[in-house]
Amino acid sequence: MTPVYLDYHATTPVDPRVLEAMLPYFTERFGNPASKQHKFGWDAQAAVDRARGQVAALIGASAGEICFTSGATESNNLAIKGVVQALRERGDHVITVVTEHKSVLDSFKRLEREGCRVTRLGVDGQGVVRLEELRAAITDRTVLVSIMAANNEIGVVQPLAEIGAITRERGVLFHTDAAQAAGKVPIDVAAMGIDLLSLTGHKYYGPKGAGALYVRKQKPKLALVCQIDGGGHENGLRSGTLNVPGIVGLGQAAQICREEMPTEAPRLGAMRDRLLAGLRNRIDDVRVNGPEAAQRLPHNLHVSFSGVEGEGLLMALGDLAVSTGSACSSGSQAPSHVLEAIGAVGVHGGASIRFGLGRTTTGADIDFAIERVSTVVNSLRASRPLTH
Ligand SMILES: *Cc1c(COP(=O)(O)O)cnc(C)c1O
Repeated sequence: MTPVYLDYHATTPVDPRVLEAMLPYFTERFGNPASKQHKFGWDAQAAVDRARGQVAALIGASAGEICFTSGATESNNLAIKGVVQALRERGDHVITVVTEHKSVLDSFKRLEREGCRVTRLGVDGQGVVRLEELRAAITDRTVLVSIMAANNEIGVVQPLAEIGAITRERGVLFHTDAAQAAGKVPIDVAAMGIDLLSLTGHKYYGPKGAGALYVRKQKPKLALVCQIDGGGHENGLRSGTLNVPGIVGLGQAAQICREEMPTEAPRLGAMRDRLLAGLRNRIDDVRVNGPEAAQRLPHNLHVSFSGVEGEGLLMALGDLAVSTGSACSSGSQAPSHVLEAIGAVGVHGGASIRFGLGRTTTGADIDFAIERVSTVVNSLRASRPLTH
């Protein structure tokens, strides 16, 4: 039996429609878009142009504002280091949040080693940034605020429009890591005041190794310092021959997400709610980590079970592919920095499971997950009666 996959925050399969769009660009349409003198190059350039428009449309940008990269890790590095290096004269202070992805946290660590001042905001018990704290943290020397759109563990969606209003008012750039949010919840960079946005194909049914950074067109031009030098591709922002099949897939996947979001988000939200109800029905003391449904990704559920050890849980889940994390600081697994930030870690924290539902998830998968998790949690608890 193939395992049931409920780990869509880690990665997603390439949609067959996306693969179909990509395939010709490996073989008969193999041209280099930088070849300006023949049809092979022109064909590749046309495909890249089309994808640029598709990605832009997903987030309310224009095609000229999209820079293709290898994924969200690279986009985050380019946005954060590129802005700070470019604006060094204007300021040396940047603001981010403790629950960010490692590619953001570590980019800021490097900048800090190079002499930048970094403010790392905490979050409330649901994982949401406190807007008053953000407002108070901005100084005359602040050049960039980087706050993720949606968290990869607990699925909390940040108040992007409110953050954008604050940064705009203070004349500070706003970058958001939208790797988990793009294609899942509506994003409008103009309405939300977002200046830079990272996204990646493999989190929304596109290929791995293809992503993009949106960079707002503004006057005077936002001149990011590029992190990969070379032939000056992507308007000098990111050198290297374009990954044409990957970019075609990134674009096609964006278009499908945009078209299907109005039906897919409620479908997944209803299945997620049924999963939680089923777990609560069969297991005592199920704690949800993160916010209510309205403020979280529709396909995300993150729960903790007291009196259960992470390792034992992981071993026993067998052919249910989910991500488990320890919510217990005394456990053998290191506690997640996100759970720690929302105060969900303690000696009695127990084990936690992150469920990520997706396009191929069925009702039968949900039934299987409820059955498997409840059996495992209840039997682990029964074998350690004193700790529960
Ligand atoms: C997956 C992920 C990334 C990294 O994206 P890659 O394309 O794999 O480099 C960055 N940020 C968040 C929030 C993610 O979920």
